[in-house]
Amino acid sequence: MDHHTPLIATIVAGLSLAFVFGALAHRLKLSPLAGYLLAGVLIGPFTPGYVADQALAPQLAEIGVILLMFGVGLHFSPADLNAVRKIAIPGAIGQMTIVTLLGLGLALFMGWPVGAGVVFGLALSVASTVVVLRALQEKRLIETERGRIAVAWLIVEDLAMVLALVLLPALSGVLGGTAVTPAGAGSLLGFLGITSLWAVLGVTLAKVAAFILLMMIVGRRVIPWILHYVAHTGSRELFRLAVLAIALGVAFASAELFGVSFALGAFFAGMVLAESELSHQAARETLPLRDAFAVLFFVSVGMLFDPSILVREPLPIIATFLIIVVGNALAAFAIVRTFGYSLLTALTLAAALSQIGEFSFILAGLGVGLKLLPENGRDLILAGAILSICANPVLFVVLDRFAQRVRERDERARAESPRAKPEPPEPVLEPTSLRGHAVLVGHGRVGSLVADALRARGQPLIVIEESQDIVDRLRAQGIETISGNAAQPGILKGANLAGARWFISAIPNPFENGNLIEQARLANPSLDIVARAHSDAEVEHLEKFGASLVIMGEREIARGITDHILAQLDVDDAREAPLPG
Ligand code: AMP
Repeated sequence: MDHHTPLIATIVAGLSLAFVFGALAHRLKLSPLAGYLLAGVLIGPFTPGYVADQALAPQLAEIGVILLMFGVGLHFSPADLNAVRKIAIPGAIGQMTIVTLLGLGLALFMGWPVGAGVVFGLALSVASTVVVLRALQEKRLIETERGRIAVAWLIVEDLAMVLALVLLPALSGVLGGTAVTPAGAGSLLGFLGITSLWAVLGVTLAKVAAFILLMMIVGRRVIPWILHYVAHTGSRELFRLAVLAIALGVAFASAELFGVSFALGAFFAGMVLAESELSHQAARETLPLRDAFAVLFFVSVGMLFDPSILVREPLPIIATFLIIVVGNALAAFAIVRTFGYSLLTALTLAAALSQIGEFSFILAGLGVGLKLLPENGRDLILAGAILSICANPVLFVVLDRFAQRVRERDERARAESPRAKPEPPEPVLEPTSLRGHAVLVGHGRVGSLVADALRARGQPLIVIEESQDIVDRLRAQGIETISGNAAQPGILKGANLAGARWFISAIPNPFENGNLIEQARLANPSLDIVARAHSDAEVEHLEKFGASLVIMGEREIARGITDHILAQLDVDDAREAPLPG
């Protein structure tokens, strides 16, 4: 049956099962990633029952990678990238070298040839972009110094991988695999009569440089212009379409024309937009699709996994897993510390980079194809990847738990040592000390007026706002502000709802509103919750979740209009009425 519609079947089975197991994992207080991976294993070829299309699933996953990297690019300006260049370049290269050597060691120990060991080691050394970005986004670390270092580090790894994937076929003969002419570069080089390895390297680097140059010079002007043009048409649908077309189009074109990875292409597409004021809206428009495809990424990873290897080769798996988690973490930690960064930054990078994902699978696939890597090697890489992806959220939980103590240690170390890198202070998510205060979510057209009125009366107030521009402005005015989406886990905790008097939800989205109100009601049964709505159905929905008062925007607008007209009619009436006496 599913032979006729494999794409639909794969998407439906992937998303539905991911939903079921993700919800189950949530219930069991596990990371939903574990649920998504398990869903993938179930629809993979190694378990009985339905088998999803194994060629389509990784392609769907790649769309997730593109949208994620595009989103990261949107928050990243060239200046940000430049600022952390000094640590990211040597860091990524150093860490990859150390871990590749560890992998090579294990491979030699298992009796594999050197070529197999190099591919195996490289595959264990490169972190999954999706996993890192999800973790950073969840912990709201993307826009912190350590988040920026992690992203720049990923980009360097990404570039190194682009090189590795191009060079591997060229090197294959030397390393003991099948000798082939490099794809893409081959035709040109063959045409020119150049076959040396350095020429391949040179052409690859030149292509990447040409792509980056093109994006920085042409893309930087054209892409924002297109978006501004579309924004002025006033059509939301067209705007959304434009954002998607740019993200996917640039990623695809860069991969086809320049041999750059999809992820890198998408990153640059986002980055050239980062300076435009439309970037936040662009980010918001791609969010739902991005999340859906990121889930499919984990499902497609699960599909590759043959669970029987856990019984067949437990010891090599444990060794592989240890290299991925401990090897990467220690290497990253040591390098970041050597560069004089704080303990917290070093630990964050160690946690972020101690897993592997998409690039490792591509590399393993290529290695097996070139007869460099034994099939066994691919299975080990897969098993190690899945275990490390499952373990990763645990590392972040541990990091979170000790973050405060580590931060205090860093403070002391900074005071004592002049060598320490000055790192900009991070917004700490410590609960506010306010009592009897108002918590205001959203400081837009509605919230800003409410905030002004409350401040004029000297009422203590804390604002939660997701637009960073607004947050910066409020903080400059000395208003206590939490930056982030209030509906995300952990954000409301900072507002001390238990000690608050009012909770004002002044955001337009009814789903987020309902979620916020439910959480607020749970945290404080006597809280006065005032919410904003735009339809009668929303009013009912929000009251059900525990709102004390819901103000329907459109009704208030109508009241303003009628008041104005009725007041004029009253004046007319007064004029026409015969004077008394
Ligand atoms: P307006 O519709 O002009 O009142 O703007 C709504 C404001 O609320 C904007 O500034 C948004 O950035 C902000 N906002 C919307 N949703 C959230 C959310 N879930 N958490 C925090 N701020 C939000």
